[in-house]
Amino acid sequence: KIILASVCVAFLAVKWTAPSFDADSLRGARVVVTGASTGIGEQMAYHYARFGAQIVITARREKVLQQVAEKCLSLGAQKALYIAADMATESDPDEVVDFALEKLGGLDYLVLNHIGPSPFTLWDGDVEHTRWLMKVNFFSYIQMAWKAMASLEQSKGSLVIVSSLLGKMPSPFVAPYTSTKFALNGFFGALQHELAMKKSNVSISICTLGLIDTEAAMEKVRGVTNVPAYPATDAALNIIITGATRQPELFYPWFTHIVTLSKDWFPAITNYFIQNSYNYIP
Ligand code: NDP
Repeated sequence: KIILASVCVAFLAVKWTAPSFDADSLRGARVVVTGASTGIGEQMAYHYARFGAQIVITARREKVLQQVAEKCLSLGAQKALYIAADMATESDPDEVVDFALEKLGGLDYLVLNHIGPSPFTLWDGDVEHTRWLMKVNFFSYIQMAWKAMASLEQSKGSLVIVSSLLGKMPSPFVAPYTSTKFALNGFFGALQHELAMKKSNVSISICTLGLIDTEAAMEKVRGVTNVPAYPATDAALNIIITGATRQPELFYPWFTHIVTLSKDWFPAITNYFIQNSYNYIP
């Protein structure tokens, strides 16, 4: 009980000391959001639009991007441009950053959010899929981050990485996906240190999300788990605020922070809960 109380006090102290968010700081901000045709990325595009930002959105489906961009303009975006790109290719990640730099004249926020589709099943030995998923969910992130770094350095900008509780805590049925999120946390965690040591202007925010009610996620877990799902629009707003206030980490919903801590302190109990939170009969 004492440990639990200490964790709660530490958690509340972090919340209370978090810097306050100034919505005006996003007016005219030059933003790239990846994976913005649907889900959390689409919701982030709409929030940035309401704040009056200049947005470049990307994903593979051009027609859907066009519709999202139109809605962004109607919500108040100063600019809403789109570029179709497949993050599994060598050249597309760089091309998206080049497009944004050219059209916006620089960059204040690079929000890396896209993920390739991946099955929710027991690992079946498909190494090729994992290799492909690493390209989409990890290598394209580091490629885009590097390409945008000089511009972010100039603008005192921010890199926002959308990660997952599954990047801190291995879980069944998603081994390839979990691996890509662990890779992101490792890489961008190391980069946070390096930028701080170099006294860089660029901030990195790593966002740890629990289950969010996007269509793609719900389709996978419906009937399989009763873990509560949180609203994509609220997750999206929390990610944006974390980036705008240059905080190094977000845990959304709040209890993902407690889960992250408890898995190291009480591994046996945590493993019991993980393995029993799915309807699985061998
Ligand atoms: P979705 O599956 O709803 O959206 C994924 C986005 O990525 C789409 O816009 C999709 O568009 C795009 N995309 C897919 N493949 C590629 C590709 N090869 N190249 C470029 N873009 C691609 O994801 P969510 O909104 O659910 O998740 C968003 C982020 O939040 C992810 O980083 C995810 O890991 C994280 N997260 C989500 C959770 C959840 O429960 N939803 C939980 C924890 C973390 P298109 O098909 O048009 O290319």
